[in-house]
Amino acid sequence: MAWLNRTARAALLVELLQGLGITLHYFFKKPVTINYPYEKGPLSPRFRGEHALRRYPNGEERCIACKLCEAICPAQCITIEAKTRDDGSRRTTRYDIDMTKCIYCGFCQESCPVDAIVEGPNFEFATYTREEMMYDKEKLLANGDRWEPALAANISADNKYR
Ligand code: SF4
Ligand code: SF4
Repeated sequence: MAWLNRTARAALLVELLQGLGITLHYFFKKPVTINYPYEKGPLSPRFRGEHALRRYPNGEERCIACKLCEAICPAQCITIEAKTRDDGSRRTTRYDIDMTKCIYCGFCQESCPVDAIVEGPNFEFATYTREEMMYDKEKLLANGDRWEPALAANISADNKYR
């Protein structure tokens, strides 16, 4: 009798009506999807996205060229060269990150004593070429300038949990 049951269900379009019922049920519910890229989901303040080098409010770069980030990077994708300025302060002359090697572990920002190198909230930095993923100091400082309000807010929020 199973065939009769199947035939009756097919003749009465039971599966089709059940499917339409489910569609109708979810049609009036709040969608669980978002319309990316026009809508974006929330991000944790600890989200580890694109790297940036931060400055102090007076415009001076924070990085003191201690090279801790370079030493701790497990992917060995940070390259730093430094020299001492006339005023005795030490600053980088070169700060490169090979973003194609980075594993976004966050060790660089954890090791930085002055919150200079950070991983910000930007995750939309895909490129068409490999060369564009070779970040230099100028690019990293420009990222810092662009994202500073969000970076400062994330560091402040993160410190509350420590
Ligand atoms: S996130 Fe990790 S792998 Fe990437 S640059 Fe920092 S320390 Fe290196
Ligand atoms: S970014 Fe931070 S850890 Fe890296 S060299 Fe500069 S001050 Fe040191």
